[in-house]
Amino acid sequence: MKAARFDYVRPGDVHEAVAALAKAEGGAKLLAGGQSLGPMLNLRLARPSLLVDVSRLDSLARIEDLGRTWCIGACVTHSRIEDMRGQLAGAEMLCEVAAGIAYRAIRNRGTIGGSLAHADPAADWPLALAALGATVNIRNTGGARAMPFERFVLGAFTTALHEDDILESVEVPKLSRAGRYGYYKFCRKTGEYAEASAAAVFDPGSQMARIYFGAVRPAPVSLSALARRIAEEGQSAVSEETISAAVAAVANDLDPVERRMAITAVTRALQQVFAS
Ligand SMILES: Cc1cc2nc3c(=O)[nH]c(=O)nc-3n(C[C@H](O)[C@H](O)[C@H](O)COP(=O)(O)OP(=O)(O)OC[C@H]3O[C@@H](n4cnc5c(N)ncnc54)[C@H](O)[C@@H]3O)c2cc1C
Repeated sequence: MKAARFDYVRPGDVHEAVAALAKAEGGAKLLAGGQSLGPMLNLRLARPSLLVDVSRLDSLARIEDLGRTWCIGACVTHSRIEDMRGQLAGAEMLCEVAAGIAYRAIRNRGTIGGSLAHADPAADWPLALAALGATVNIRNTGGARAMPFERFVLGAFTTALHEDDILESVEVPKLSRAGRYGYYKFCRKTGEYAEASAAAVFDPGSQMARIYFGAVRPAPVSLSALARRIAEEGQSAVSEETISAAVAAVANDLDPVERRMAITAVTRALQQVFAS
């Protein structure tokens, strides 16, 4: 099948982009890497009257060190993040997550902002950014606003973005030198979407821990009670029993296979956190 007819504009900056979205009153879609939107257009699951191509806007393609955080522009590609190994101090997890997304050809085009806006339950960035405690920066013609990432994904393929919003960037807090992270995803073949996944971070210096699992639910699920215990007690809070109980407490209705995969993904992410 081929996409239905649509108009196409390539705005010169973000202000022109949001003006085009507002003018279209819900009929427009932003185009970033096109790796999710392209198939949706071809299958006619999306039928916008206008595509607003933001993929070449310089302001959305920046990676900036803001001191306590890294600010990653929405149109930064997965492969660019993958290739920044050794250069994203305190946020090395981003490089590892990027490297596990799809295949290099898709990573060369797909963007972090496109992935977050698409909000596929099995995608990697929503889970990783929830665990890292990121903030998203959003703009429309009325101005800019920031939102904690944990409030951004509302459900499967549903976010807090309004139809005239553009996601401009994500800010990722840096872990301290003692900070540790773990990320694990089950997939049938390397480079596929996750069937179950988990991300964990632990920063003993600031007594902060976050654990999320993904893919088996519409949005990443926080294991906040277990994370609090780990923040206070460290590795001694981690056991098969505490992980199983934590998953059961927040998602008791998972089928046995999903539950086992979620528990194992969390276990493996935590093993990476506490590996010496
Ligand atoms: C074969 C295959 C395997 C894949 N495997 C994985 C995987 O293992 N893990 C994974 O996480 N992903 C995977 N993906 C998805 C990939 O990461 C996509 O790049 C991503 O989902 C969408 O990013 P994009 O830049 O291509 O966005 P697009 O396809 O251009 O856009 C996607 C949606 O986001 C909106 N959008 C884009 N940019 C913005 C913005 N700045 N602000 C607001 N809305 C915006 C668009 O309007 C559209 O609705 C896979 C894709 C394919 C085709």
